[in-house]
Amino acid sequence: MARLYSLFSSSKGNATYIGTLQSGVLIDAGVSYRRLAQAMERCGLAMSAIQGVFITHDHSDHVRGLKVLSEQLRVPIYGQGKTLRNLIDHDAVSASAILQEMNQTITLADLALTAFVTPHDTVQSCGYRVQMSDGRICAVCTDLGHVTKTVEEALTGCDLVLLEANYDEQMLRAGRYPPYVKKRILSNVGHLSNTDCAQQVRKLIESGTTRLILGHLSQENNRPALAEAAVANALSGLCRGRDYLLEVAKVETSGEMTVF
Ligand SMILES: [Zn+2]
Ligand SMILES: [Zn+2]
Repeated sequence: MARLYSLFSSSKGNATYIGTLQSGVLIDAGVSYRRLAQAMERCGLAMSAIQGVFITHDHSDHVRGLKVLSEQLRVPIYGQGKTLRNLIDHDAVSASAILQEMNQTITLADLALTAFVTPHDTVQSCGYRVQMSDGRICAVCTDLGHVTKTVEEALTGCDLVLLEANYDEQMLRAGRYPPYVKKRILSNVGHLSNTDCAQQVRKLIESGTTRLILGHLSQENNRPALAEAAVANALSGLCRGRDYLLEVAKVETSGEMTVF
């Protein structure tokens, strides 16, 4: 049974496990190895179940634990070419790590993973579309300034989507971040707001997606209730629990999973 475990999700650290209890993949390793192992254990998952690590981009909230992870687990690390080169240059992976450029669909642990480009302020960034052996599809899509045609195509047809709902625009604008940081977050290559996310959620549900997880919420500029309210607002006429299931990813898992 295919499952998605959102282990960590916020501007402070991100990691998602997709697979079965026996084998699967990790998308991002943005917390220390120790915290990652503890979260996996809370979900009943052994670290040895991880068959590969797929990196979305090189920001620290996605790769903080990668160096130790790549020393402890001898599994391949996948990412876009420039991302991998940056990780090597910044000593963010072990020198002996097995790095594989993500330029085609990778089949691993009974899953087929495809990267799609996302607009974000780093050398290269991507999300992942993951197809199970039984045909069901999920996607992890965070850290994007806006939804491009490429992103929309990658998400369409997924049964489950973990989509970024980073900030409430009012909270961000009134908040204590310096103007240049606010500008970066609000830009086309920053993060997705609750409103942007909600609009996309509506499109996804209308095209057949049944499960949504709102993720990568800013602890500074967002609240789970605000993200949920924005989505509820965009989904008038649709019934939660009947037309779709919606969760907000926790900052750190207490052991839950999403079966789809
Ligand atoms: Zn991030
Ligand atoms: Zn980022």
